[in-house]
Amino acid sequence: MKKLLFATALGFLLISCTKKETLSGTILVENVSIVDVETGELLPNQNVLIQGDTILDIRTADGNVDYEVGTVIEAEGKFLIPGLWDMHTHPDDPEVWRMNPKQEEKDRLMPLFVVNGVTGIRDMGGDIKLVQRWCSLYKEGKLLAPKIFAGGPLLDGPNPMWDGSVGINSPEEAKQVVDSLIAEGVDFLKIYSLLPRETYLAVSDYANEIDFPFVGHVPYTVPPSEAAQTGMKSQEHLLEILKECSDAPTEEFMASLQAIDDRIERSNRLNDFRLNTFNTSKADSLYGVFKEYDIWHCPTLSMWYKNAWYEDEIPKDADLVEYLPPYLKAYWTPEHNDHLQYRDNKDFIKTKQRLYELYLKMVNRMNQKGIRMLAGTDMGANPLCHPGVGLHNELSAFVEAGLTPTEALKTATINPALFFEIQEEYGTVSQGKIADLVLLNGNPLEDINHVRKIDLIIRDGQVIDSAKIAEIKNSIKAENAYPWRE
Ligand SMILES: [Zn+2]
Repeated sequence: MKKLLFATALGFLLISCTKKETLSGTILVENVSIVDVETGELLPNQNVLIQGDTILDIRTADGNVDYEVGTVIEAEGKFLIPGLWDMHTHPDDPEVWRMNPKQEEKDRLMPLFVVNGVTGIRDMGGDIKLVQRWCSLYKEGKLLAPKIFAGGPLLDGPNPMWDGSVGINSPEEAKQVVDSLIAEGVDFLKIYSLLPRETYLAVSDYANEIDFPFVGHVPYTVPPSEAAQTGMKSQEHLLEILKECSDAPTEEFMASLQAIDDRIERSNRLNDFRLNTFNTSKADSLYGVFKEYDIWHCPTLSMWYKNAWYEDEIPKDADLVEYLPPYLKAYWTPEHNDHLQYRDNKDFIKTKQRLYELYLKMVNRMNQKGIRMLAGTDMGANPLCHPGVGLHNELSAFVEAGLTPTEALKTATINPALFFEIQEEYGTVSQGKIADLVLLNGNPLEDINHVRKIDLIIRDGQVIDSAKIAEIKNSIKAENAYPWRE
């Protein structure tokens, strides 16, 4: 009895003598559940204090601290994730320049990333000057835009596939081309499909010599294993893996192909052959090389999906298309789009669908083998790869492939931060990091589609609440509501 009295008295003494700590900042997110994307755990009942553009303090909401803040966001029952990254975008896709887009029409794509929770993007090909302009407009407070890392023009062979590319004529030109792009301010080099083998090797040798990252399409003449060994930091779209992991066609088979007049029919037969002879043990040893050389993969599954099932998807995406500038609405139709040719050829479509099913299996296996993945949409010329929402689709596709919701979230948060070596500032909800955050009305660890349930966004410490999000989206839709001028 005596003991108990003493303990109670001491307890009273402690409470009455402890002065509450006071913390001040600009924003307090109160009673929120933080999603730890590294461990896949939920940290309930947290107070996140933001000062300016930085997360100043995170602690359990136990009532022991007084906060002096400008804005309090009551977030009980809500979930806080780091801002998402789309690691393969083309908001200024040179392929679409033929549609005569105006600069202000391209500008309107930028806020669509942010209001959908995408606070960072990797620009995989476009006009570097335009990207630099977007970054300046954002800094001046004139345009809502994500943080951008950009590669500038595609590096392609002497006769490039697309407008706006740099065609490198010979291996000897490689050094000068790379130097001039770096001088223009690119963050990395984007390799493209038609780069001849010797030129690719000259570019990779020089980039390795000066320790400058290069990423992109594995060229037609370089197997993915060799691209990995030569240091390509990320490989996009799972290109050329099917070719490396299936049987080499016999001369007899190639002769039988040549006898077919129709080009698409020839391509269908070759793809069928490769799909039918895809060898999982060859694939496993290739994935071993990716792992050994620590190569990142950005499979852009949602791009492959939207292309393979375009006809089914177009009515589902009708509302989203309304947010696009007219030149892009027009380009995302078979009438104009180079990726939507031969839609009346049923075998051609069937092959694309079979390829997608294989890509899901490849991604699942690569994930099991510990290969690090990046979420990317290929937003730009490719149909129905929407700015912002496309990234939600990509995360769903990763889960469809077999990744857990935590593994999928990593591909758009901590992995991009590690890729760019900015993990001290980005990639998790942590003290000292930049306040690029997304508040969700559902737990994304339970269902990855809850990343679509956005309550509000914080970009560099600026709150964009649900009313503001609606206002921005409505005004973009209204500004884009006019016909395309041919
Ligand atoms: Zn691309």
